Amino acid sequence: QAKLAGKNCYRFYSRAMDQAVERRVRMEQDLRGAWERGELSLVYQPVFRMADNRLLGAEALLRWKHPTQGMVAPSIFIEVAEQSGLIETLGPAVLRAACIDATRWHRELGHDELFVAVNVSPRQLRAGNLARQVEDVLRETGMAPRRLHLELTETAVIGDELHISSLLARLRTSGVQVWLDDFGTGFSGLSHLRRVPIDGVKIDRSFVADVLRDPDDLALTTAIIAMAHSLGMTVVAEGVEQEGQFEVLRERGCDLAQGYWLGHPMSSQELARLIG
Ligand code: C2E
Ligand code: MG
Ligand code: MG
Ligand code: MG
Repeated sequence: QAKLAGKNCYRFYSRAMDQAVERRVRMEQDLRGAWERGELSLVYQPVFRMADNRLLGAEALLRWKHPTQGMVAPSIFIEVAEQSGLIETLGPAVLRAACIDATRWHRELGHDELFVAVNVSPRQLRAGNLARQVEDVLRETGMAPRRLHLELTETAVIGDELHISSLLARLRTSGVQVWLDDFGTGFSGLSHLRRVPIDGVKIDRSFVADVLRDPDDLALTTAIIAMAHSLGMTVVAEGVEQEGQFEVLRERGCDLAQGYWLGHPMSSQELARLIG
């Protein structure tokens, strides 16, 4: 009896797994060429300085409108792009497009004070040609290097420290800023990062979500801000959804903030209108 149930179980899971694999393979096929077909686009979420609510820049976020399935969540298709290697062509396309949009804002403003932050996936970091790609894009677009922020996840930076450190050093030599995304989730701790050249950290929104309810999250967030500042880094809070969160984070000395309470991701044109 048990054996039979086990067998059925196996068949059930096996079929579910087949379907999941099949969905994944199909998504990978659909994603291939999606950029060229114009199904992918960038939206920009504004980032503000907490002290005076001034708009300082925006994070570029990729969107995919699938021809039959509609919008696909980035958490899903970025993972597929990462696993399949498609990110190695998608990543540079995103980087170039974000710099083109940002130089347009700069032209319209008459100055280049707004930054654009671009997410870089672990696979792009390991691919070995990121520094070269960045240098090429800066040259081709005329983007002001210090206004380009690269967001790397904490976990991507851990391990193979020697390679990562020299890569980050070369990136910073070209003038761009390096930021740590989703900080706090990887438990690497800031002390570990002393040896890696980093301009700032983005506190993960799971901490921000709980700063008003959970004293531990508030304590941890406060400690991250203090330690980052002592290492000369700037701190962004992401996922700010309520005024109360904004207030408490500002009191604790957080520098910048991003979140639905301040502004949702929007088109490049809408962001340009926000600038004025
Ligand atoms: P991320 O880099 O941490 O981006 C922030 C995410 O938080 C975005 O989700 C944004 O829309 C969302 N968000 C912003 N404010 C709030 C808020 O107040 N509340 C809540 N609940 N969420 C908020 P999105 O656009 O779905 O992107 C998810 C992730 O996908 C990104 O996380 C990033 O890791 C990845 N991603 C997006 N675009 C790219 C890209 O061009 N390249 C790479 N490598 N990864 C990307
Ligand atoms: Mg990010
Ligand atoms: Mg993040
Ligand atoms: Mg909590």
